Amino acid sequence: MKEDTKVVRAGRHPEKHLGAVNPPVFHASTVLVRTLDELENLSRRPDPTFVYGRRGTPTQHAFEEAVRELEGGDACYSYPSGAAAVSAALLAFAAQGAHFLVADSVYTPTRRLCDTLLKRWGVETTYFDPLIGSGLAALMRPNTKAVMCESPGSLTFEVQDIPAISKVAHAGGAKVLLDNTWASPLYFKPFQHGVDVSIQSATKYIGGHSDAMLGTVTVNKGALEAVRDATHTLGYCLGPDDAYLAQRGIRTLAVRLRHHQDSGLKVARWLAARPEVERVIHPALPGDPGHVLWKRDFLGASGLFGFLLTPCSRAALAAMVNGFSLFGMGASWGGYESLCMPTHPERSRTATAWKVAGHTMRIHVGLEDPDDLIADLDRAFARLNDVERRRKGAA
Ligand SMILES: *Cc1c(COP(=O)(O)O)cnc(C)c1O
Repeated sequence: MKEDTKVVRAGRHPEKHLGAVNPPVFHASTVLVRTLDELENLSRRPDPTFVYGRRGTPTQHAFEEAVRELEGGDACYSYPSGAAAVSAALLAFAAQGAHFLVADSVYTPTRRLCDTLLKRWGVETTYFDPLIGSGLAALMRPNTKAVMCESPGSLTFEVQDIPAISKVAHAGGAKVLLDNTWASPLYFKPFQHGVDVSIQSATKYIGGHSDAMLGTVTVNKGALEAVRDATHTLGYCLGPDDAYLAQRGIRTLAVRLRHHQDSGLKVARWLAARPEVERVIHPALPGDPGHVLWKRDFLGASGLFGFLLTPCSRAALAAMVNGFSLFGMGASWGGYESLCMPTHPERSRTATAWKVAGHTMRIHVGLEDPDDLIADLDRAFARLNDVERRRKGAA
């Protein structure tokens, strides 16, 4: 089956639900059984099974099945947020005295988990240069249990050599975890590149409409038991309404992503030619430092990327972003709407420095017409230039 067909079919079983195209929303905590035999056999039922609301109803199971099929793993679990998914995945491999290797460009709350709770519980984290590749071997220790990657990285979009990193990690007996949110399950196939545990903030492209919080962890057989047990023990579960919204989001994921990709590239190329922009950070642009790896390993690019402004004052930046008519500022991304705001990667990195002269920006190109977005950016730069001209005139 081709990918577009899979996106439409995955996890759907109308025959189980009176022919309804979408899985119905089951609201349930208690699930009744009729006999003592059934009661005594509950714990022996294979996963996923409908035994108690916390372990998922057919609504969550349909969503998990769809994500598992698209990412290509052996099982998938769902969570009330992407951050919850990250924590369950890392806790699954945490133990007193264990060592984790984490990419310096990971999502900031992932870092916080490592630097606070995990540290307190006796797990040591070493951050590594996201471009390290097989050089990771030098950082491996006998107690290294997990290597946490995110490619491209949050805010800075470095592409990691996941096959090289996986080879080193596996040789040392560590599991490879990947936050695969940027690519979604469609544009990077984690299990074909050596990943053991793939994490999605499904709040982003899978949900796709900025109205639900959820996360997933998809695993291969070797990581299944650890992640399943941690998930069940921690008591994570996803609300059935949000699971419903997310499975509905999946049906349009392929067409939405193609639009995000095409419009994103159009806007990225336009930005790259602007004097107000020092550099566009988009791995699908030839010449980007991550382009060669992106081209080798990825099947597409999403609509999220970065750019560096030529140094300008805070007042000029404010004039630029305060007057947007289409772009918004706010946490998250992956919805149909466009976002553009300054970010601060220099504040969180420890293994490598993020040294840039101007402001670092993150842009999410939504489903609007790209020409309208470019016009909005054009007006934004005019406002920025106006402030800079007056400032220089006054000086
Ligand atoms: C947003 C995000 C998360 C966290 O997801 P939430 O659903 O907001 O908790 C994790 N990783 C990445 C890369 C993200 O962008």
